[in-house]
Amino acid sequence: MEQRLRSEAKALLEKGKVDNIVGFERGSLNFSTTPLITKEAVDIDRLVINPFIVNNLAVFLAELKGKVGIVAKGCDSRSIVSLIQDNKVVREDIVIIGVPCPGMIDVTKIEALVGRDRDELDNIVRDGDKVMVTVDGKGKDFALSEVIFDNCLGCEFPTPQEYDVLLGEPTPSVTDKAASCAKINELKAMAPKERWEFWKEQFSHCIRCYACRNVCPACFCKRCFVEESEPQWLAPMPRWQDNLMFQVVRNIHVAGRCTDCGECERVCPGNIPLRSLTREMYEIVGDLFQFKAGVD
Ligand code: SF4
Ligand code: SF4
Ligand code: SF4
Repeated sequence: MEQRLRSEAKALLEKGKVDNIVGFERGSLNFSTTPLITKEAVDIDRLVINPFIVNNLAVFLAELKGKVGIVAKGCDSRSIVSLIQDNKVVREDIVIIGVPCPGMIDVTKIEALVGRDRDELDNIVRDGDKVMVTVDGKGKDFALSEVIFDNCLGCEFPTPQEYDVLLGEPTPSVTDKAASCAKINELKAMAPKERWEFWKEQFSHCIRCYACRNVCPACFCKRCFVEESEPQWLAPMPRWQDNLMFQVVRNIHVAGRCTDCGECERVCPGNIPLRSLTREMYEIVGDLFQFKAGVD
């Protein structure tokens, strides 16, 4: 898949069909990747496809000038479609290089399972529905469903729905909705007062870094309401009440656009379970409007 990606991307640049390629390259931490945005064919051999290509690259589309070739997993392709529907990008300016996606590995789950930090792991290898983790030279197998992100466990469309090139055969969906939504259901089972206390505590450690907003393709306002001063909707200080209100409004803004890519929760330095809000909103939109973002 990686070789095919590199040859497709190189051909797109060399034939002048795109001005930019947006994909992933190795990250500076073990078992991580970072977005690679380039106009140069010489950079193409840095492109990778592996179980750690977590970012939703659609977030970069609206800011890039010219035609763009973009690597997209199932959820990312839905975000691209959603951006097209919102007139943020033009379909003809995008070449979608689709990656059928069996789920992204959540290294924090592996750290918890083996009781070691990512820097102490020798290797993590995905092989079909198994993942082998090697520590101190010894390999241990885990089921893929034990180590992928919660949103991937509930992924309905792992193969891109919209693409120009598909880098492999469509992949079956893992879909274990009960496991994917376990944390959300725990919250829903709480009495309102208990749930309120839960969120109050969670949002008391939000530092208002806005990583959740900046990483999200559905959060695309040029000027976010949190930065308005006339009227001022929120106090700039990260008080829990304002932090909570920020997420409440953000959820309403992304309703019908959120594809449950899970990025907002993954990047939150406070480990706030933001997906408990966004996935629930995804379900509400589905129930009320029979609508799933980026599928049509
Ligand atoms: S949500 Fe689906 S398409 Fe997106 S990374 Fe997870 S399994 Fe892949
Ligand atoms: S990423 Fe987390 S800490 Fe940062 S603003 Fe969002 S909720 Fe707050
Ligand atoms: S709200 Fe979160 S899960 Fe939804 S599209 Fe944005 S980053 Fe992805």
